[in-house]
Amino acid sequence: MTQYLDKAPDAGRRSRKAADPSAVKVVEVLIVGAGFAGLGSAIQLRKAGITDIAIVERGTEVGGTWRDNQYPGAACDIPSNLYSFSFAQNPGWTRGYSGSREILAYIKGLARDHDLLPLIRFQHNVEALHFDGGEGVWTVTLTGREPIKARSVVMAQGPLSNAGFPNMRGIETFQGKKIHSARWDHSYDFAGKRVAVIGTGASAVQIIPELVKVADKVKVFQRTPGWVLPRFDFQSPEWTKALFAKLPVSQTAVREAMYWIHESMALGMIWNTPMTKALEILGNRFREAQVKDAWLRRQLTPDFKIGCKRVLMTNDYYPALQKPNCELISWPIANISEKGIRSVEGLEHQVDCIVFATGFEVSKNGTPFPVHGLGGRDLNAEWSGGAQAYKSVQVSGYPNLYFTFGPNSGPGHNSALVYMESQIDYIVRSIGRLAAGKLKYIDVRADAQKTYNVDIQKRLAKTNWNSGCKSWYLSADGFNSTMFPGFATQFAKQMATFRERDYRLV
Ligand code: NAP
Repeated sequence: MTQYLDKAPDAGRRSRKAADPSAVKVVEVLIVGAGFAGLGSAIQLRKAGITDIAIVERGTEVGGTWRDNQYPGAACDIPSNLYSFSFAQNPGWTRGYSGSREILAYIKGLARDHDLLPLIRFQHNVEALHFDGGEGVWTVTLTGREPIKARSVVMAQGPLSNAGFPNMRGIETFQGKKIHSARWDHSYDFAGKRVAVIGTGASAVQIIPELVKVADKVKVFQRTPGWVLPRFDFQSPEWTKALFAKLPVSQTAVREAMYWIHESMALGMIWNTPMTKALEILGNRFREAQVKDAWLRRQLTPDFKIGCKRVLMTNDYYPALQKPNCELISWPIANISEKGIRSVEGLEHQVDCIVFATGFEVSKNGTPFPVHGLGGRDLNAEWSGGAQAYKSVQVSGYPNLYFTFGPNSGPGHNSALVYMESQIDYIVRSIGRLAAGKLKYIDVRADAQKTYNVDIQKRLAKTNWNSGCKSWYLSADGFNSTMFPGFATQFAKQMATFRERDYRLV
């Protein structure tokens, strides 16, 4: 129990509790998830002097999405110098765009170098959160374990952590192997196999070129062709690694340059501007250069604005589709059968394995587990019409609860870690305020949250994401609760100010 609690107004009641050996200890901050956001939060909290931290992680290893996404070809489409923490730069990146194993090694390095492993309780799966307004304490219910009590909770479980097979007719009847991109089975040998890949999103375009190298036949089932742009990847020369190690400021300068290049892309990707047209021309030229067959080119041509869905950065996807053992199928899928996939024109494509690169169950209309705030209010019910928060990190009625990658914090053009860092800094400031003020809780005002969201939704209406395509950014009825309608610089600016008048300090 932290010192400030002993001095709180009802300290008498609490200190009697503290004397009771059976009383449950209240952790100052409990973090859910040991991926980039969870570990980054722990590092920055400690730097701010907040050290009573526990991290619960449902897996057996740190790494989050980079531990889970180990499919062949998995890599990041943002340069590594920018897809890493500014406070923990890695001079040794081997490529411009690192693969998932190297990113996972970086995350493991963060945990090791910052001595975070003793804080992590592995195989702790959160089932629910309940806030007690009288005590100002969260109770964290866990599967098959004693609950944990915490003053503040940081939700860092990741927006793309729940991989699920899509709801397709007949999926349970398929007799062959089923693999999801985010739950890769490395023991399955693709050599000589007939493989179907469902999906042509960011994961699929990385998997397909690798499968084509080993499988006998690869059939790619495309529902919507995406915009593809070249990725300027390269092997890092030894001299830059040596320079970055010796002179960290040189790596910071490169990071800065990359940041501003990505910021400028927002002009074409987020809003419909002449730059959108220029990027589309680049995408069209790239397709014309890489795809020789006119009919295949037609099938691969998107019918929505660039930026509306995530842009696919890849040099080897189009060439892979044109290999003799690869076939693009753009007929919609009718159902899955015992032996393969039946498309609507009546053909059954018999395969040994189906790879589902079909994405994730994203919590746009709810939380990943029940969250009950002040007076028992239910966040799932409140978010059923679309998730909303204040500055993406806090929700009115749910005090001392913080979200990383909460509602409307997603970037389309810049590194997610840039956004994550400013969310973490905000959370650290708020938790620091709680401790400094010896407060029971901090709750964002409902009217401040409403005003913030009215503005966000007005701005979103003018973006390419809301321009008519279907994507995981939008709920079934078209509500955008995922993306931030602005530059990363604007997001950082809003997170840099903690406006106390927007809160109830109790
Ligand atoms: P995704 O972008 O949601 O793509 C899923 C694909 O599966 C889409 O092509 C979708 O078609 C298709 N699909 C889904 N359900 C289907 C169904 N019932 N029938 C037919 N097709 C279906 O998922 P993802 O590729 O796994 O990527 C998710 C996110 O992960 C990305 O947006 C990105 O944020 C992240 N990611 C990042 C990287 C990186 O390099 N940084 C790499 C991989 C993933 P439609 O387009 O028609 O919906």
